Amino acid sequence: MKHLPWIVMALAVGFVPAPAAAQKPTPEKILSSMDDDGDGRVSREEWLKPPPAFKRIDTNNDGFLTYKEMAARFGGGAKKNGSVKWIDVHVHPNGGRGIIHNFPVAVKMALDVMDDNNISHMVLMPTPQIPDKLPTYPLERFIEEARKFPDRFVVMGGGGTLNPMIHDESPDGHPGKDLKERFAERAEAIMEMGAVGFGELSLLHLSLVPGHAFEDVPGDHPLFLLLADITAKHDVVIDVHFDPVVEDIERPDWLSRDNPSEFKRNLDGFERFLEHNRNAKISWAHAGSDQIGHWTTDLTRRMLKKHPNLYMSLRMTRGRSKKNHPLTPQGIDPEWMSVFQEFPDRFFLGGDQMFSPPGSAGPAAEFAEFAVKIRRRSNWFLSYLPPKLARMIGYENAMRVYKIKK
Ligand SMILES: [Zn+2]
Repeated sequence: MKHLPWIVMALAVGFVPAPAAAQKPTPEKILSSMDDDGDGRVSREEWLKPPPAFKRIDTNNDGFLTYKEMAARFGGGAKKNGSVKWIDVHVHPNGGRGIIHNFPVAVKMALDVMDDNNISHMVLMPTPQIPDKLPTYPLERFIEEARKFPDRFVVMGGGGTLNPMIHDESPDGHPGKDLKERFAERAEAIMEMGAVGFGELSLLHLSLVPGHAFEDVPGDHPLFLLLADITAKHDVVIDVHFDPVVEDIERPDWLSRDNPSEFKRNLDGFERFLEHNRNAKISWAHAGSDQIGHWTTDLTRRMLKKHPNLYMSLRMTRGRSKKNHPLTPQGIDPEWMSVFQEFPDRFFLGGDQMFSPPGSAGPAAEFAEFAVKIRRRSNWFLSYLPPKLARMIGYENAMRVYKIKK
């Protein structure tokens, strides 16, 4: 059976191809017609074709056909979506820190690439900053420019103000009463400006290039818990950068000495943050772009199952670990595909595109060079998803959760 052409295999499992061809069974088609309980796999009871075919596909004999098993039999979904409209929920207009007049240029640069890349909207936010030689930038630097294009941009704030209050003013995790008040005031001010949430804020943030901040506080830092309550009150979203460490490790070779020599498990604090207020929606940024190597599909599935207020934005560049990325040269990794099938309403695309006007320097300008690749790979990713999933992950989930108006 192994080397028979697909048409013979298709007949063998009872799929009758239409004369026009292109009726090859795919995991997507099988799931959409048979997976009644929507768990991303087909049980023996759900299977609508002859039982022997089920047995052949169920190679581990556990009574379920997973996406992976079906893909091994039939291949993954063919490239079939032409172009899918999408929203990038994680974009940084980096005007060059300290250079105020460059921010409008950065916003224009973002606007200029949208139509050619099928991007309908962007969520603009400051990076998660800590004060160093240059002043931090808050969303006031670009909000006016973004407001000129209300049908293309929404904004988030806090990366230039709330994040420094956490990492610079209370790294020990004991903010005083005064700091808590200032923090809450600033968060309310951000809401008043019409932001759709708070971002980008960081828990563990590795330093990947010189001048790129290393940041680390526990997930259950009191200011993060306070922010969860404010977020819930306004029914908005927190965009958080959290490099997960599942078990203690020494610093990997490729990571510079701007990072500590070892990393302790940090997942438990993050889970306490997620549990603190279930009405606070948390968007965990950069899924699939795994730096340390611990952000597996198993972790993804476990976290989404356990935390109903958790969402993830997918970044279409590989992390430094080179592991756990959803895109392969053949299409979408089957393990990731089954997670998407299982949690179709919990993912967004968060490109982490940066826009730095000519002449900018520093890490943001370095990262800005990846934006072209990110856009290309995001479109490529969507083209490999079944159309309904592509619409949800690319567009509808973001419209709903970020409350973007058409
Ligand atoms: Zn980030």
